[in-house]
Amino acid sequence: MNRSEIVAKYRQYLYGLGTYYKEPLPFVRGEGKWLFDPEGRKYLDFFGGIVTVGLGHCEPRVVAAIEKQARTLQHVSTLFPTVPIVELAERLCALFPGEKPAKAFFTNSGTEAIETAILTARIHTQRAEVIALRHGYHGRSMLSMSLTAHAGWRLGGVHDPSIRHAVAPYCYRCPLKLTYPECGVACAQDVEEVIRTTTSGRPAAFIAEPIMGVGGFITPPKEYPGIVAEIVRRHEGLYIADEVQSGWGRTGGKWFGIEQYGVKPDVIVAAKSLGNGHPVGATVARAAVADSFKGLTIATFGGNPVAMAAAKAVVDAIDSDRLLDNAATVGGHLRSRLDALGKKHAVVGEVRGMGLMQGVELVKDRKTKEPAPQATAAVMEAAKDRGLIVGKGGLYGNVLRISPPLNITAADADQAADVLDQALTEADKLKA
Ligand code: PMP
Repeated sequence: MNRSEIVAKYRQYLYGLGTYYKEPLPFVRGEGKWLFDPEGRKYLDFFGGIVTVGLGHCEPRVVAAIEKQARTLQHVSTLFPTVPIVELAERLCALFPGEKPAKAFFTNSGTEAIETAILTARIHTQRAEVIALRHGYHGRSMLSMSLTAHAGWRLGGVHDPSIRHAVAPYCYRCPLKLTYPECGVACAQDVEEVIRTTTSGRPAAFIAEPIMGVGGFITPPKEYPGIVAEIVRRHEGLYIADEVQSGWGRTGGKWFGIEQYGVKPDVIVAAKSLGNGHPVGATVARAAVADSFKGLTIATFGGNPVAMAAAKAVVDAIDSDRLLDNAATVGGHLRSRLDALGKKHAVVGEVRGMGLMQGVELVKDRKTKEPAPQATAAVMEAAKDRGLIVGKGGLYGNVLRISPPLNITAADADQAADVLDQALTEADKLKA
């Protein structure tokens, strides 16, 4: 099929899906950090299919694990134990950043893993209310859309009434109009205020992304999660870290984003990079929490042997290739290049993030901070025309999201930064 046939059929036979760029860009092949379009043109992939392809496309060890398992045993359901499910569970429970021992539950997506985490917290605490954050994103089921706090992603008009939202630790656009650090991280106290004024005072859980992905890689101040964890625990609720984007070494030096903040979560939610593109979701909880789970539940495909084998190969590769270190080192280099672009281009309001999870927020005016979504789209388009794929996010669609594979080199980061430099130059012109 050629490009126009693929695009025409996509438009005719699929629904509800948005695509990037003025004209949708189909891909036919991926290899490591490269993606190939139908004409064979290659693109450096610095978005990884929404922060998912952490090892690069079609990573040979992951492909081999999938092939081997697909020939050995593909499906029996969780009614029957298999080698791949117990092997992966053992590995994830050992990596769990909260208090051990831990136990895992596998599903097919981030959304389902979020559902499982909230259900687990509700069953354990025998409470219903959950505090989430404004600007957060947690999925596309009714419950996870209720947790999500971007109007555009909250479809259907019916929401779980037991969810409350505290203000986001979004320093660049502080909801309290304060400045860090003089603010004393006042936004964290909003969690207490929300619990005391809008709930029964008995929350089941607080849930947040350590770095808020769809929100535009909003990176909370270092004290924030610790202050919130103390508040939530004082009210005997659980702390759930949504690591769907920030997990698996993405933030550099640690397996999970929450570890950067020194907080021990009761439950973590993982998906995306855990499968490097293969569909898998995982909820890992402190054993005491997990063991409260009573009642009938099943995920027919959850923990299926092929997904488990893929994920185990991913975790092994991150470990053996020392990618946590690489994400920190190359991430630091990328960040210094992005910071320099921030100084050079007036359209850049803020550069933020950790490791290989870097966001660049674009504004029309640095003083007023008016968001620049058109400039953001123009930068993405210009970057794509020069062979670089980056993503975007943010409530206003004005944050470039940069999340390359964890095994890129400093030279790859330089190549991307050079392209972004040219693309931002065009955006500066657009603004003038
Ligand atoms: N949580 C976060 C932080 C996410 O970014 C996403 C997906 N963008 C989800 C949950 C939902 O994951 P999925 O799309 O796999 O259902």
